[in-house]
Amino acid sequence: MNGIPQALPTPPALPTLPSLPVHPDPETDAVLDSGLLHELAHAFGGPFHFLLPHRFDDNLAAFRAAAADAGVDGRVYYAKKANKAAAWIERCAATGAGVDVASSGELREVLGHGVRGENVVVTGPAKNAELLRVAVLQGALTAVDSLDELDRIVALAHTCPGRPARLLLRRLPPAQPHSRFGLDEAELEEALTRCVRAGDAVRMEGFSFHLPGYAVQPRADLGGHLVGLCLKARALGLPADRISIGGGFAVDYAASGDWHAFLAAQRPGHYHARKAFAADGFYPYHSPDAGADALRAVLASVPAGGRGGLGRGLRETGTTLLMEPGRALLDRAGASVFRVQGVKDRDGYAILTVDGTSLSLSEQWFNSEYLPDPVLVTRAGRAGGRGVHPACVGGATCLESDMLTWRKIPFPARPAVGDLLVYPNTAGYQMDSNESPFHDLPLPPKVVLETTGGRPRWRLDRRPSC
Ligand SMILES: *Cc1c(COP(=O)(O)O)cnc(C)c1O
Repeated sequence: MNGIPQALPTPPALPTLPSLPVHPDPETDAVLDSGLLHELAHAFGGPFHFLLPHRFDDNLAAFRAAAADAGVDGRVYYAKKANKAAAWIERCAATGAGVDVASSGELREVLGHGVRGENVVVTGPAKNAELLRVAVLQGALTAVDSLDELDRIVALAHTCPGRPARLLLRRLPPAQPHSRFGLDEAELEEALTRCVRAGDAVRMEGFSFHLPGYAVQPRADLGGHLVGLCLKARALGLPADRISIGGGFAVDYAASGDWHAFLAAQRPGHYHARKAFAADGFYPYHSPDAGADALRAVLASVPAGGRGGLGRGLRETGTTLLMEPGRALLDRAGASVFRVQGVKDRDGYAILTVDGTSLSLSEQWFNSEYLPDPVLVTRAGRAGGRGVHPACVGGATCLESDMLTWRKIPFPARPAVGDLLVYPNTAGYQMDSNESPFHDLPLPPKVVLETTGGRPRWRLDRRPSC
């Protein structure tokens, strides 16, 4: 493929294994070349993740700018389920951003780091009584998923005088009638009646949805539909001045050419044990509209049956836009570091064993693979060289299936025990969604990297006492 000379008659052609390099990231490269990661691997004696919180700030600012440029009053709520680190919540508290939580534990964590209750949105199906109670007491906004949940939250609000329950009604996507989330048309009608009847006990602030996938037009369509529902609710005397369009803003990990070349080339022979992955089962590692640009595209798109873009509809009706990006706020904000603890040769490739498990790359648990190429880092920095040294990557457990990477990655040098493998851009859903202390292996710690006065510094994401 790229970089391999075509015209040389001898020696025999090197195996052309597909690869998927991530977009250039000089700042992360500087970390890889600094020697710091070997220091940290030595200190922790195991795998770890590093976090770059200023990238979160940049991504957040880009979302806010996209809304502002469309003349829309936009509020960003970080969807906490994408990563468990405290660092992101600290940034939300410091920058006045909101957080989307779906459990009592997440709500406690967010409030404990100083995010105000009024900046929290509580989503998820059939929320339990404790979660609803704290949400009401803290003035959080609750996305109501069903009529029985609405009844429970109204009853709760009656027991908390002076504290109306702030709520959104979650719309079941009409195009996905089998979704288990949200209210259908008849239920919405009934919910509005019950909100009116509840009087001062509730503050019905609008409607919400969250769609799977990353398509732009369905989000604009449903957004337009919710603006119409707001107008209808206002006619009933309810405030209904905001809509939430949920998350699902794609992350663009790799260049278009690299991604499409990879998809076209990959076949079972490129993987350990000839494992076959369906191309349509992979995350879309390249997206033309990603992150805040996807929001721009949603706001510019004309909803079905509408006259102007969604942004214009929001502006003209005085409707505030809430959004709940998870993965997209974590783009390029972290990476995962493993140490090579064994190298075994097999039929023309190596099987590496690293000191962690595939639980730190959650894609394996969807029977898929995290494809962006891991980077081989020696004590001198990123490995160079013009060779092709294929290797797959196994975890330090006794399961055949515990592979971080089944693919034979074409490394530029032969990996050796003590080298590091750095999986790039893993903060969004990869690093800790599925981690567990399987085999009594400790959970990999998270290290926050910051530059203070021109000097790189590190600290634990959570100090041992917290
Ligand atoms: C998961 C989820 C999100 C975040 O989705 P991303 O794809 O990470 O942006 C937002 N809102 C709700 C209700 C969710 O369930």
